[in-house]
Parts: sequence; structure tokens; C-alpha cells
Amino acid sequence: MELETYRRKRNFKKTAEPVGKKRARSSRDLSFVVQKHAASRLHYDFRLEMGGVLASWAVPKGPSLNPKERRLAVEVEDHPMEYGDFEGTIPQGEYGAGSVIVWDHGRWTPEGDPIEDRRKGRLKFHLNDDKNNWLLIKERDQNAGKTDIVSAQPQSVKSGKTIERQITEARQPKKIHSRGRAKSAQVKAAKKSNMPAFYQ
Ligand code: MN
Repeated sequence: MELETYRRKRNFKKTAEPVGKKRARSSRDLSFVVQKHAASRLHYDFRLEMGGVLASWAVPKGPSLNPKERRLAVEVEDHPMEYGDFEGTIPQGEYGAGSVIVWDHGRWTPEGDPIEDRRKGRLKFHLNDDKNNWLLIKERDQNAGKTDIVSAQPQSVKSGKTIERQITEARQPKKIHSRGRAKSAQVKAAKKSNMPAFYQ
């Protein structure tokens, strides 16, 4: 439940990923996020808030609604809470280089004590999300089905972008980025703040 490993793997002068703070742990109203990540291999990063950080698993094939399918989920380092909002492109040569979109997000409810259950290696929970309810091993419930959820709904729930569009945008020269209405709306809404320490 610490962020040292996360920070050690990244150079925050080069990547726009957040340095992050460990938050006070809250046992209620927990958030989760699934990020689609076109790194050297495309995968889905599944992150559950617990103990003030995002416990994280890399799921090569992504989630499934089919209870018969089991999907490998490899536990990776805890990520800061701020990471749940990250959508962008990690530069070449950096850890996890490639584009990231927020494929799904919402709140989750553990069935037991999540920290204890994670330690034991058996975590049961419910997701309230923007796409569909699913589990890594999907239980038979009213949301079970045969729809291939990763191909039926490939886009970001945050921006509507596909990972392909995020990749294309990352390749475009910056000049093109600075034009257009979306950008100027963003600038209008932006608040003045100090340059984050990692840019210095
Ligand atoms: Mn990843």
C-alpha cells in the first residue's frame, strides 16, 4: 500500500503521469478504474481503491461478461488515486510507454474486508460502472452475457476516445493540437496554478 515502487519506475520529468499522494483510507465509497493501455502489448489495467491507493492488476485480454471465461490478472504495483483520471500518452523510452484511455470507471463495493481479502488472494466485489457490471471471473447474475464487452465498447468513458485516436493524436505535431475548439474550451476552463514540482 505504498507508492515507492510506482515512483521508482517512472521519470516524472518525462511522463505526464501523476506523482500522486497517498490519501487517507476510506472504507466507504470506493472508486475503481479500468484503463486500456496500448503499451508494447495492449492490455487493460484494472485498479481498485483500497487503503488510500489504487491496487492494480494488468489484464491482458480485458474483462469479460461471460461467467465461463477466466481472465488472467497480474498484480502490479499500487498506483496513486490521481492515476484513475490519467488519459494520455507515456513517451517512448519511459516505463509503460504508449497510450492510455479510461475505458471504464465507477464505484465498487467489496463483499468483505478488501485489504485482508487481497492478502488472502480471493477478492469478491460488485462494480457500479458506466459500461456494464463484470467480474474478472464473472458470476452468473442478471448482467452476465455473451457480448464481447471489449470489442463492443472500445471507447473511453471519460473522453469518448478510442485508443487508436489517442495514439494518432500523440503522433500529430503539437501545432495541430493547439488549434481547435476543444482546446480553447479547455484553456478557458483551466485554473491558474503553480508549475508542478516535477516539471522543474
Ligand atoms: Mn499498463
